[in-house]
Amino acid sequence: MSKSFVTHPLPSNAGPETRALDAGLVIDPATGAIAPNISMSVNNVLMPGDGAFSADGVEDLAALPYLYARWTNPTVRQLEQRLASIEGGEDALASATGMAAIAGMLLTLLKAGDHLIVSDVCYAGAAELTQRVLPDFGVEVTAVNMARLDLVEAAIRPNTRLIHCESPVNPILRIVDLKALSAIAARHGVLTSVDSTFATPVATRPLSLGVDLVIHSLTKFINGHGDALGGAVIGRKELVAQIRGRAGVYLGAALSAHSAWLIMRGIDTLYPRMRMASETALAVAEFLESHPQVERVIYPGLASHPQHALARRQMDVFGGMIGFRTRDPKATASRLAELLRVVHYAFSLGHQRSLVVLMDTEEMMASTYRLTGEALADYRAYAGDGLFRLSIGLETPADIIADLDQALTP
Ligand SMILES: *Cc1c(COP(=O)(O)O)cnc(C)c1O
Repeated sequence: MSKSFVTHPLPSNAGPETRALDAGLVIDPATGAIAPNISMSVNNVLMPGDGAFSADGVEDLAALPYLYARWTNPTVRQLEQRLASIEGGEDALASATGMAAIAGMLLTLLKAGDHLIVSDVCYAGAAELTQRVLPDFGVEVTAVNMARLDLVEAAIRPNTRLIHCESPVNPILRIVDLKALSAIAARHGVLTSVDSTFATPVATRPLSLGVDLVIHSLTKFINGHGDALGGAVIGRKELVAQIRGRAGVYLGAALSAHSAWLIMRGIDTLYPRMRMASETALAVAEFLESHPQVERVIYPGLASHPQHALARRQMDVFGGMIGFRTRDPKATASRLAELLRVVHYAFSLGHQRSLVVLMDTEEMMASTYRLTGEALADYRAYAGDGLFRLSIGLETPADIIADLDQALTP
């Protein structure tokens, strides 16, 4: 940290909403500006005594001065400190996208001959990277339904290095018992990582449950405005430093200062946004459950969710993501794309505007998951022939409900 920047001091017992605003905040020493500066400079002048001048200075990249923005940048660093604070982690690495965070973590922690256990259903990019690309580099990969902890434990081998999952799982909203999972992993000396993009720290803090690393696509609820891509890995200092040293420096997917500034602006309102989205989502889920065109609704906050009890234990709010099914999903998708006026028919999620899209089961199996037998039957129990993934935004709740009603009703 360069001497000319001073981090705003917070009371050590500051609550989560306060930390979402002020953790890591740097008051500009020249002007006293409270809003973070966007520091676009790629490099900063070095002073004698800055770590860059000592031979072993490069060991702790987070402590380096801002010598080059692919390694660290003052605006990105403020974001990283805020992310670490709201997840309850020692440090964070921000990256250009969520996929860059996942790829960077995997390519740092795994080498040829290692074994990875990955959730059999997860973000499509993560499923394809782990199951298609990593085996080309000599990494053994087993895909497991992580709601079945007996299957996870049975899959552990002597060379298992990492267990990677999501909770709730994209797109079927299955919940993983993170405390029990990390206890099993710890017993076998295996690291755990959780992509907590759907939950956000407002719902669940995986590090407090024993997980080693939390991943986010900052593109989703954390930025929350659909106008910046970003990703993060959060956890113990030495693990994050290892990932920064390899992935941050060699893979080159550094986050731009401009995007970091937008994402910090988004985090300012993360808590009220997630609370409102969760409250609206419950009302929409209850409405959909009573709608004659809807066959099944999957929402962790509904008593009908197969893991509702676990969701109540592990989630402080139930989040903004809903899955629902109708008869003839393709025909329904056409109706929604044509008739919706408040909700938008589009990919992505976690924005201020509500979004919905069909995840067709046959297409997802062909392109991504390739499940068979019991695993396929379990996926179908959630998704049927196709699941509509609905991301609840910040519109007037009655408008979202009326819009879905008019588009769903023939
Ligand atoms: C979107 C998403 C990602 C990928 O994030 P990008 O920022 O688009 O690279 C990873 N995991 C989950 C759960 C996501 O929803």
